[in-house]
Amino acid sequence: MPHAKGRLAPEWAGYIRVRLKTRGFMGSTEPVKDIRSPRPPSRLHQVHVESRTRVEFKDITSLVQRIVSESGVQSGTCFIFIPHTTAAILINENDDPALQKDLDNFLKTLVPRDNSYLHNDGNCDAHLKAALIGSSKSLLVAGGRLILGRWQGVFLCDFDGPRRRELMIKVVPD
Ligand code: ZN
Repeated sequence: MPHAKGRLAPEWAGYIRVRLKTRGFMGSTEPVKDIRSPRPPSRLHQVHVESRTRVEFKDITSLVQRIVSESGVQSGTCFIFIPHTTAAILINENDDPALQKDLDNFLKTLVPRDNSYLHNDGNCDAHLKAALIGSSKSLLVAGGRLILGRWQGVFLCDFDGPRRRELMIKVVPD
């Protein structure tokens, strides 16, 4: 948009002021900081999710989206971390529940519960499944919404339930 000759466009005015303040007239090797719009601090959200069976794939997409919406972040990154050794975070199809059963069966063939393991407290299979899936995911946020494919959802996978699981979520603006 055109503006009066000899005047700074409003969006540049704050920047120039900051530049003069931080560098001075003699110049300096200090990096120039643009502090016009300081980033709001991101808060760590701790929520609890309960599983009801030993192995459960719990869809937490709407829970995570709610936290993103409450954070007010329009564009940024959403970090999801689960601080447990027998649970994991998965992104996959959340449309057909049969897929969760298939995934359960697939992981059972890879890591049968009754194998002889060195870690013999009865839940070694759960540790190994959690190690395969992973304990964290990062998702992009645009327009205040998680970016997910049409069929994708976020799951908390419990491999040694039923338990009350802790979930940590942080939404960081760009
Ligand atoms: Zn164990």
